[in-house]
Amino acid sequence: MSADLRRRIVAAEAELQSLREQLALAEEAEAADRSMQPDSSWKWPLAASDYDRYARQLILPSVGVQGQLALKKASVVLIGAGGLGCPAALYLAGAGVGHLTVVDGDTVETSNLHRQIGHTTARTGAYKVDSLVEACRERNPEVKYTAVREHVTVDNIGPLLANATLALDCTDHAAVRYLISDACVLAGVPLVSAAALRTDGQLSVLNWPVGRGPCYRCVFPRPPPAASQMSCAEGGVLGPVVGVMGVLQALEAIRVLTQPPPEPLQPTLLLFSASGGPSFRTVRLRGRRSDCFACSDDSVLKKGDGLDGGWPDYVQFCGGSTAVTQHVLAPEERVSVEMYKKLQEEDTPRKHWLLDVREKEFYNMGSIAGAVNVPFSQTRAGSSPEGLPSWLPSGLAEDTAPIYLVCRVGNDSQVVARQLKTLGLDREGTRFVGDVEGGLLAWKQRVDETMPFV
Ligand SMILES: [Zn+2]
Repeated sequence: MSADLRRRIVAAEAELQSLREQLALAEEAEAADRSMQPDSSWKWPLAASDYDRYARQLILPSVGVQGQLALKKASVVLIGAGGLGCPAALYLAGAGVGHLTVVDGDTVETSNLHRQIGHTTARTGAYKVDSLVEACRERNPEVKYTAVREHVTVDNIGPLLANATLALDCTDHAAVRYLISDACVLAGVPLVSAAALRTDGQLSVLNWPVGRGPCYRCVFPRPPPAASQMSCAEGGVLGPVVGVMGVLQALEAIRVLTQPPPEPLQPTLLLFSASGGPSFRTVRLRGRRSDCFACSDDSVLKKGDGLDGGWPDYVQFCGGSTAVTQHVLAPEERVSVEMYKKLQEEDTPRKHWLLDVREKEFYNMGSIAGAVNVPFSQTRAGSSPEGLPSWLPSGLAEDTAPIYLVCRVGNDSQVVARQLKTLGLDREGTRFVGDVEGGLLAWKQRVDETMPFV
């Protein structure tokens, strides 16, 4: 209810702001009409206010008046108004790009605020693009802003990039990264791509110079294994880590817009780590792959009909979404949270096992009474050729009591249940091994609303 109201207030404010801008433009035009003579006394390339606002970057040799004019002419499309997009957009707005388009279909949640510095507690529930554009406008009202309240898809990305000078990939999903890169190759737009997860980040400038620099597929021809593709929602991230990467994206964007591409071409991948050792490392990239799916001369993508003929299935290419494991177990191998709650009450003294397969940090935040923590990452480690894996809780294999698995939303629990059966722990079907359907999320929604859930 309150989230909806907040969203509506921000939308109304955005509308009001847009009307004010239209009014200002209309008044300006009327004033110009009245005087019938443009201000011919002004003989300098930038507007008077620009010399003031951008003074400290104008005096840099790497920017200067020419650089400022290039920024002013630029149309930048920034995809993802989250942890990377917020600092990147704020700095690009501050630097005075001419037109900034921000694309994101999500709304602001409280759990975003520790890292997504363009949003505020008061704007929780609003569209991220509206919230971020408002923050940018407060910084620099001279920039033209477009807020697109959609996620990028194969259908909208072509038109979004049609008049772009530069694109920034500030998203957090593997499939979307390939889509954005492919679209930039097709549209002839350079791309500043960054990623951050947990305590690490990476950054590269792709398709730059346009038509010569490597694309995302040249650098990462194969997607990461599906199991390792965690978005920040599940994977966790430190605010300053993603902030560093977003700020660096803005820096690279300003360099691309104001300076000629380096010659000879030296594409690099910058790696950042906050987990010890050197913070920054630079890896030289090989350049374009002659057999690249997207950017090589005989690329499948280029030969397709662009939007209709040539787009691959990105989700499938990246190993499917998290929904892929939805049907690992049969219905009779699963119990609802209500059924498990009843069983928990009736099974006294307790005879069954409940294994919580979330990572330790999640488990420590709160779990169902009596659950034993077996982190999913440990169950992925290869088991020794003979005997049972060491991560099994002691006594589990020897026992005959039923085993219930629970996880965050009910995917990993199925995988581990299947694994325990493969290991023979179901004693040829005489011992129940199954999961609690819907995981801790369902438990919170339907049994115990006080359960902390992230
Ligand atoms: Zn390529």
